[in-house]
Amino acid sequence: MTGRLSEILLADPRGFCGGVTRAIALVKKTLADFGAPVYVRHEIVHNKHVVEDLRRQGVIFIEDWSEMADPSRPVIISAHGAPQAVYDEAESLGLKLVDATCPLVAKVHEQYRRLAAQNLQIIVIGKKEHPEITGTIGQCPGHAPAAVINTVEEAENLALQPGTRYGVVTQTTLAVDEVSRIIDVLGAKPGIELATQNKNDICYATTHRQAAVKELARQCGGVIVIGSKNSSNSRQLQKTAEKAASGQEFKAWLADDVSEIDWDSAGQIERLGVTAGASAPDYLVDELLAEARRRYPNLKIRYVTVTAETKIP
Ligand code: SF4
Repeated sequence: MTGRLSEILLADPRGFCGGVTRAIALVKKTLADFGAPVYVRHEIVHNKHVVEDLRRQGVIFIEDWSEMADPSRPVIISAHGAPQAVYDEAESLGLKLVDATCPLVAKVHEQYRRLAAQNLQIIVIGKKEHPEITGTIGQCPGHAPAAVINTVEEAENLALQPGTRYGVVTQTTLAVDEVSRIIDVLGAKPGIELATQNKNDICYATTHRQAAVKELARQCGGVIVIGSKNSSNSRQLQKTAEKAASGQEFKAWLADDVSEIDWDSAGQIERLGVTAGASAPDYLVDELLAEARRRYPNLKIRYVTVTAETKIP
């Protein structure tokens, strides 16, 4: 679908999820209650604009307690959650802790603890270095995961012990289709028992945004995902769009904001899809639409709604 940009299809749902809204609100409430500065352990959510905005309001982002110049100030755990050791250390240091862990990440933590209590070997599907996975596998210090894998190929190559029961937990922001293939590969290994309580632990927001971007990919010649490069669910939206569109001429971009849009390429696509990762604020999409309207005055904008989304289920 090439030509001059004449229509934008806007994914619904897109952008902020319940967990991100809650985490940012907790930081703002802490600032209002205690004044600046307050500390946040890790980026509260993976979005450059959110982080810069909060920094301007007096938030200091740290990765380790030793970076707190004033340990009497409150410190907030990011939406990605943290290992149990982080809570233990905070308690022993007497820190004022505010927990902004998304309730859906906390649910995965519970699941990990339950599987560990049953003495199952645990396979974690997710990115080893992602803070959510560090938090999940750090729930039971005495029960390290049997493996952390992230691709179908890694699942195929994983040697499991016959006669052993395995439990599986997943990162909340992965690609739904890929995780389902990984679990199928694991489940097909001979002689093992795979105990999965849910099909996966991917959250409602990730699932809905991927369903919406697939629909955009089916209807459009290209898709712009507004989100930061370190945002797992934003990257998965880009990947999901590319996969859903395979076979046709198609391009999916991941951009932090309107300044990163390559209009020479995007403007050649007659019908363009736009969505945003769960940590990307709405105003970034509004700015993109305003610029698109300025460049293409006859532009039509239409919503593609795949599901109604109101709150964390
Ligand atoms: S993307 Fe999902 S798991 Fe992450 S904060 Fe949002 S609702 Fe929670």
